[in-house]
Amino acid sequence: MTELNTLTIAEARDRLRKREITAEDLTMSCLSAIDAGGALNAFVHNTPEIALSQARAADARLAAGEAPSVCGIPLGIKDLFCTKGVPSQAASKILAGFKPEYESTVTAQLFDAGAVMLGKLNMDEFAMGSSNESTCYGPAVNPWKRTGDATQLTPGGSSGGSAAAVAADLCLAATGTDTGGSIRQPAAFAGITGIKPTYGRVSRWGIIAYASSLDQAGPMTKSVRDAAILLGAMAGPDAKDSTSADIPVPDFEAALTGDIRGKRIGIPKEYRLDGLNAGIVKLWDDGIAMLKDAGAEIVDISLPHTKYALPAYYVIAPAEASSNLARYDGVRYGHRAKLGQGDGITEMYEKTRAEGFGPEVQRRIMVGTYVLSAGFYDAYYNRARRVRALIKRDFEQAFEKGIDAILTPATPSSAFGIGEMQDHSPVEMYLNDVFTVTVNLAGLPGVSVPVGLDEKGMPLGLQLIGRPWEEGDLLNHAYVLERAAGFVSKPSKWW
Ligand code: GLN
Repeated sequence: MTELNTLTIAEARDRLRKREITAEDLTMSCLSAIDAGGALNAFVHNTPEIALSQARAADARLAAGEAPSVCGIPLGIKDLFCTKGVPSQAASKILAGFKPEYESTVTAQLFDAGAVMLGKLNMDEFAMGSSNESTCYGPAVNPWKRTGDATQLTPGGSSGGSAAAVAADLCLAATGTDTGGSIRQPAAFAGITGIKPTYGRVSRWGIIAYASSLDQAGPMTKSVRDAAILLGAMAGPDAKDSTSADIPVPDFEAALTGDIRGKRIGIPKEYRLDGLNAGIVKLWDDGIAMLKDAGAEIVDISLPHTKYALPAYYVIAPAEASSNLARYDGVRYGHRAKLGQGDGITEMYEKTRAEGFGPEVQRRIMVGTYVLSAGFYDAYYNRARRVRALIKRDFEQAFEKGIDAILTPATPSSAFGIGEMQDHSPVEMYLNDVFTVTVNLAGLPGVSVPVGLDEKGMPLGLQLIGRPWEEGDLLNHAYVLERAAGFVSKPSKWW
């Protein structure tokens, strides 16, 4: 018998509805997998009592024949989501001990639909990073290893704990957030699926803010179908988030017809970077062939402002972060530094923030404060905003020409080793986002799908970028790619 924790959401849903399995057994199976998977450092706050009581409530609903898709489905929740009475720390020391008095809209919606929370997942501090090494909990570990090589690898970031937990079957699926690639890059590094929806599709209320004009939450799952199911449960308008769009949520799963005949797939020439890893180039070419075989038309396109995306992102995101993170001052939340004789409020702010924030977060706050300062605002922040508008226009022009989806690599490499980037400049870490940040700057939906393994036996993903609000159509393209690639590899269990 397959172990229950290895099921997909779709498989578990169908078996729960037929009463072949119970939510309680499914949850117990995940809880033991979490215990056995401690070496991955994916779950950082476990909530077994909450999980079991939610599972029993879900079983009662299932018995009554009232079962939304995620009813009884055990999930991991990224530490960035505020969960009532449960530590919600954004992997930061500055939020040590913080237990929110309220529930984020996303988790509230999931729980109302009967989902089960197993615990909170590791991440990069305040979602700043691409390796889950910048965290107060210590790095999360990728369940995948290179063939014949014991090196521990990163699961990517910032949603690294989510990616590791899903890939290792510690949960059926997880929530993630994506400001510049934090769902799609870790999904690619761990051989799973992750979608960042259109900006405004999912409420940001109760999600600890990084860069508010870029942040979106989305699902990280074992299959494209699961991404469709979980996104449906997370999405929807919310009066508490003025940027959430008042647009009905379609049935994303129903969009998975597997038929993309006549669709036009754009291949942007600017993403063929000089010196791009040969394995990635081959994967991309394979993906192009798969979509073509499925009856899509392949069209070369140009997104001319792509090369300015990374610099613009690393002005806008820190600018917004420096403003969002001003609230952590030792007065209202979490950690407060011990003060010396004669210390006043200024010393309290300074000491608390110096102790509470890790080095990457401090770097972003300094960069953000600098680009927003009176003398440099126009030169950096306003210029970056203008570049952002041009990047958005590039995509709009492609879609106006009838492009349905754009295919690119998800990442410039497979997962790298923990500590491997330590001696490099932070900018090298930022390069991980080269294929993903454009999508956040333009507010578009983007999905990462595992398509193959590289020569070291590590998973690689491709990214599909869609039209705004067309997540269903985008997921259908991803579904075709998933079926054609037939990616079924799993990490071998060493933990
Ligand atoms: N790696 C990017 C950053 O550090 C993106 C992170 C994210 O999407 N949250 O900003």
